[in-house]
Amino acid sequence: MTVTPLITEEQIQDRLSQLGRRIEEDYTGRPLMIVAVLTGSLVALADLIRRIQIPHRVGLVQASSYRGATTRNTTLVLNESFAPDVVGRDVLLLDDILDTGQTLAALAEHLRDRGASRVRTAVLLRKIGRQVVPIEPDYIGFTIPDVFVVGYGLDYNDDYRHLPYVGVLAE
Ligand code: 5GP
Ligand code: MG
Repeated sequence: MTVTPLITEEQIQDRLSQLGRRIEEDYTGRPLMIVAVLTGSLVALADLIRRIQIPHRVGLVQASSYRGATTRNTTLVLNESFAPDVVGRDVLLLDDILDTGQTLAALAEHLRDRGASRVRTAVLLRKIGRQVVPIEPDYIGFTIPDVFVVGYGLDYNDDYRHLPYVGVLAE
């Protein structure tokens, strides 16, 4: 397997600084809680929150999706064991990548059901061409073509998460 760099460490850091400033402007005076989706968004979470200079809380959720072998249906399984209390909070849901959109849409719905006063969404990457659920993230780091990427939190069978850049994985 080889990893071909697609987005450099410097580009990621610059973009997160920009997004951090926008989030500060948008959430000043609001009770912000960033809820990150494990495990892929951990690296982005750690870098992003250190660029947001307004008070905010951090929570984690874990979701795994299982795609049926013979159907296009996806079942999302949520691990609630460390689900944060979001009642009355302005939640910013953070994921590593928006692909079909099913994970982000289902989690946003779930957080609303659990009493969040508002749920907006942020993704490091948005993949073009595979979206099936009409969700429009409020903050997008980078738009990428339909390729399989790893690094900066994103894995292939749990490897490659530690790379400081995002790259395309190929045989
Ligand atoms: P969605 O529900 O939007 O189809 O799926 C989003 C999830 O699929 C992401 O959180 C991520 O775990 C996984 N995913 C989608 N595309 C990629 C990719 O190119 N690379 C990696 N490592 N994971 C991906
Ligand atoms: Mg994921």
